[in-house]
Amino acid sequence: IKIEKIRRHQFSDYFAKRKKLAEKKKYLDTERNKLEKQIQILKNEIQKQEKLYEISTEIEKINDSQKLADISLERLRIETGVKEIAFFKKEKNIFSLIASRNVNAGEISLWERVASGEITRGYTRIPLRVKKEEIGCIILKNLSDELKTPAYVLSRQITLGYEKALLYEEVEALSRIDGLTGFYLRRFFMKRFEEEIERAERYNYKVAFVMCDIDDFKKYNDTFGHQMGDRILEKVAEVLRENLKPGDVAGRYGGEEFCIFAPVLKKEEGIEKAEGIRRSVEEKTKVTISIGVSYFPDDASIKEDLIKTADEALYRAKKKGKNRVEVLA
Ligand code: GH3
Ligand code: MG
Ligand code: MG
Repeated sequence: IKIEKIRRHQFSDYFAKRKKLAEKKKYLDTERNKLEKQIQILKNEIQKQEKLYEISTEIEKINDSQKLADISLERLRIETGVKEIAFFKKEKNIFSLIASRNVNAGEISLWERVASGEITRGYTRIPLRVKKEEIGCIILKNLSDELKTPAYVLSRQITLGYEKALLYEEVEALSRIDGLTGFYLRRFFMKRFEEEIERAERYNYKVAFVMCDIDDFKKYNDTFGHQMGDRILEKVAEVLRENLKPGDVAGRYGGEEFCIFAPVLKKEEGIEKAEGIRRSVEEKTKVTISIGVSYFPDDASIKEDLIKTADEALYRAKKKGKNRVEVLA
């Protein structure tokens, strides 16, 4: 009987232990499940971050704001599956469409109303903000709620890239355009001139090269001061601009020298243009200008020789008494 008692005791002990272990196993199993779920969440998160990193580095490399808008929409389209999507830039409180996917020409005004906040239903409008200031917005049609967060996160990266591209373009424009007159600076002007010559050669038209120099400007500066001189330069540039036709391009060649190239059909057109400019400057400003004109292809077929010829003509205009137009013939 005693032995029986001991055995029973041992058994019950054994069962208790087994039960405890089973409970512990169950506990560990649920813990493991929880951890596995967390690992999966973290893996997804890592994947998302990697994707975001990949997109950011792609966007970061783009210095052209137009191209950036385009690629951004492509990315958003892939990530969200939204078909109709648009990128608006905002300048002086005006929204203008710079890139879109599946937006018909007839619908643009409707999308513009979404951009300005007039319409909201059915559209997700994500503002692109830099220090509270809105520089544009992205609009997605019928974006599902669960995809809103990724769309916003991606838009944040797009904003950074877009701002950088705008800054880059601004700096680039500064290096191309003269601050005082708004004309192209010499180097960029010359590049454009060369392109124009190539085009004229291909399509068989003439180009007039017009070189202007203000008469006795040193005297003007000496008499009225450099600041007044600068005002005159602005004014002369304004008068020149008034005389430009579409296709004509002006540049500030040097201190008080301006150049224009103009596609023309006949040589007379170039002289008429130069004469018109000379007269306007005489009428509208306190100075006069002398002008030399040369022609592609009549005078020369390369930029350097066209400049040289116009310069010689200009020199002749100065020698003949200034305030006149000369062409070497
Ligand atoms: P000319 O009729 O022979 O052209 O006489 P000029 O005195 O105009 O002679 P030149 O073209 O050689 O002189 C250029 C002068 O233009 C020198 C300088 O005083 C003035 N100038 C050049 N750039 C600027 C500028 O950016 N601002 C001002 N205010 N003056 C300038
Ligand atoms: Mg000069
Ligand atoms: Mg001069």
